[in-house]
Amino acid sequence: MTDHLAPHSIHVIGQPLLVPVTNIYCIGRNYAEHARELGNAVPTEPILFLKSVSSLRALGGGDLAYEDETFHHEAELVLLVGQVVPRGSSVGWEVLQAVGLGIDLTRREVQTQLKAQGLPWTAAKSFAGSSLLSAFIEPSELPDYNSITFTFSVHGQLRQQGDTALMLNSVPALLTHIAKAHDLVPGDLVFTGTPAGVGPLRRGDAFTLEFTQIAKSFSGRL
Ligand code: ZN
Repeated sequence: MTDHLAPHSIHVIGQPLLVPVTNIYCIGRNYAEHARELGNAVPTEPILFLKSVSSLRALGGGDLAYEDETFHHEAELVLLVGQVVPRGSSVGWEVLQAVGLGIDLTRREVQTQLKAQGLPWTAAKSFAGSSLLSAFIEPSELPDYNSITFTFSVHGQLRQQGDTALMLNSVPALLTHIAKAHDLVPGDLVFTGTPAGVGPLRRGDAFTLEFTQIAKSFSGRL
């Protein structure tokens, strides 16, 4: 899919229709080792924030705000909700239409300043091109939901390794937590938090995201 075809829609491999994105929920500090590398406390319940739908972009280059800055990459498993989930429901994998890999691109210095002032993270997290998405796959393609592994490499060098087994809050726990306060609807995305290894990413850097168990990789360029 090209960036200009439908930048705010998801392509699920093997499914004919693009899925328009509704909301983008993001989880902070869902891996203990990542919380520690930024000097943050390990939270007792999920930290939830939002990004704008207009921040979405495919991996292959394109519009990017603040393009002269050095960002931090946060490689993450991303969930695509496929059905209505009424508020208050306890839910899990059965409500997902697809899963993908994404980068929650972050202006880390700005975020650090905002955090110090007790202000929302929005200016550090939500801007054109800050939510990068692979194509998505049907969850049934993955062998074991309890240990989905993925990697993120820049210029061929491994930077991050994720594993749902290491998440502080599991995928069902995250979905149920968000659904405590929101009706989930088709097209909702959930960025599930980044593992340790966040680091610099600049315009033009070439990178690869991979579901390692099924050797499915997605290459892109900032
Ligand atoms: Zn993130």
